[in-house]
Amino acid sequence: MAKADIYLYNTLSRSKEKLVPIVSGKVGLYTCGPTVYNYAHIGNLRTYVFEDILRRVLEYAGLKVNHVMNITDVGHLTDDADAGEDKMLKGAKREKKTVWEVADFYTQAFFSDMKKLNLLDPSTCPKATDHIKEQLSMIDKLDKNGFVYQAGGNVYFDTSKLSDYGKLAGLDLSAAVKNRVAVDKNKKNVHDFVLWFTKSKFDKQAMKWESRFGVGYPGWHIECSAMSSKYLGKQFDIHCGGIDHISVHHTNEIAQSEGALGVDPWVKIWMHGEFLVIGDSEKMSKSKDNFLTLAVLEEKGYSALDYRYFCLSAHYRKPLKFSFNALDGAKATRKKLQKRVWSLISGGASGVSLEKIGRGNLSEVAISYLESFEAAVYDDLNMPKVVALVWDLLKDNDLSDSEKYALIVSFDSVLGLNLGAEKEKVSVPAEVKVLCEERLEARLAKDWKKSDKLREKVRKLGFDIVDSSNAYEVVVKK
Ligand code: AMP
Ligand code: ZN
Repeated sequence: MAKADIYLYNTLSRSKEKLVPIVSGKVGLYTCGPTVYNYAHIGNLRTYVFEDILRRVLEYAGLKVNHVMNITDVGHLTDDADAGEDKMLKGAKREKKTVWEVADFYTQAFFSDMKKLNLLDPSTCPKATDHIKEQLSMIDKLDKNGFVYQAGGNVYFDTSKLSDYGKLAGLDLSAAVKNRVAVDKNKKNVHDFVLWFTKSKFDKQAMKWESRFGVGYPGWHIECSAMSSKYLGKQFDIHCGGIDHISVHHTNEIAQSEGALGVDPWVKIWMHGEFLVIGDSEKMSKSKDNFLTLAVLEEKGYSALDYRYFCLSAHYRKPLKFSFNALDGAKATRKKLQKRVWSLISGGASGVSLEKIGRGNLSEVAISYLESFEAAVYDDLNMPKVVALVWDLLKDNDLSDSEKYALIVSFDSVLGLNLGAEKEKVSVPAEVKVLCEERLEARLAKDWKKSDKLREKVRKLGFDIVDSSNAYEVVVKK
């Protein structure tokens, strides 16, 4: 891939900026990972899909990406403002398990979702509970640099000591705000936050560690500062998360890292994904219990890649409205797209690639598609444009089938839809075939109850049915 100028929207400067890696040819990328007290909901997964697209674009451009994603397995509060119930304890009570079992179970569940969605594995996935020493040593550095005070048994970050606290979110730090009384009476300033809790907060806290401040556990933000500097160094290129992280979590990560490490800016580019919303604007949220998981979508007959395709339909900086109607549309369109690519394969295009053809041997039309693709992805990850381009090129009679296939496979290194893979040859046992035929009859007779029962039987035998208007296809259950 030719060297390219990549432009990304930086929340910090509120503008698109050219990416200039700190070390030429390499990118340090930190993405805030899941809090593992429950399944990730499909809103969370939208953010991880956006981050995966970013990673793939950087790699497409020939950059070597060191991608770190943390696993938040320490108990944290359900409220962003250091109040509320402890999330891990809440999960443990609900499931009658220990907090450690809860964390382990949902970490594995998250990795399984990642695989299904075709999210590339991070280079490192450090767990917060494995890095308590690093978190305490960062608190020590902050203490040495004069940013720390202790009150009521907890250790706080003093936000008044940092001249540009709140710059990421453009927080209002006017006198009126400063004089506001904080919910936590121990705080000197309204925005101060906890670095280390001791018994003062939760007597029944299960995860506790020794420290010079007393037995306790870390505040929510310190793990990301400590683990990113351990794996990516004092300064790195890109840090991502959802937009809800801008005003508290990322703002406080910046305060800790710049306060402890003496670097400014700590991270060059901050990127944030907009929410998946239900109805007009309601945010899908773990603590509201209004959430849908990937498993629920799969039970309803959608595949993880249908959801990935759905996510690609909106730019990551625009809210995406979820509805089953919209997901139906994505499922049908992805299927149509996959069929078109399979017909290119059966027509003999299999195995062709841009590398094999050689960029210099491509037709002018093919080159113009390639250039449009690169212009779109390098312009702040414009994936809706890429999806439109894929459809345009499939319809374009001026392109040969080999060029179409080679372009699509190349674009798919960013789309991540497995478009180039050959159709899975499914050997369906006679018993399953009979059930499927019976089910088709029931469906055509609009006997939905019988049809659902028969589908369940098919699923129990390890297969699934993908419906189209008057027909069906049998696939292996994923
Ligand atoms: P959590 O596991 O709660 O820490 O969230 C994991 C990621 O999902 C974070 O980057 C959040 O900002 C993001 N997130 C949370 N809710 C949504 C939502 N409704 N839509 C998109 N991203 C979300
Ligand atoms: Zn974080």
